[in-house]
Amino acid sequence: MIHPFQVLKREGTLNETVRQAFIGAYGKRGAEAFDAVLDGRVKKYRDYFVVVGNTDEYFIEGDFCSCAASRYGVDCWHTLAVKIAEAAGKYETYDMWYYLHGVDEEEEDYSSAAPQTEQ
Ligand SMILES: [Zn+2]
Repeated sequence: MIHPFQVLKREGTLNETVRQAFIGAYGKRGAEAFDAVLDGRVKKYRDYFVVVGNTDEYFIEGDFCSCAASRYGVDCWHTLAVKIAEAAGKYETYDMWYYLHGVDEEEEDYSSAAPQTEQ
């Protein structure tokens, strides 16, 4: 198997060779993630990475993503996009807190709603 992050390191840029490597390894998820990074849709705030998706934007911390798919245990492309952006050094940096930028109420919903659905 081709390791796409090794290809990215070798190529040193987000070119078509790297894109094909990510598609080979991750399929559609790889294409979505790669294109988002290339489009500059990955942003780094002081507290979270934020990925602008097709219909909404999501905040990511490690393998955690705030999108619906991630909450159902699906590996979404947003977390992969952040990893690609970090490896390529291609993201916009915002010297501000995303948490204080309007997601704190949603975050409360996640933590209080999750245990109830599992009981
Ligand atoms: Zn996600």
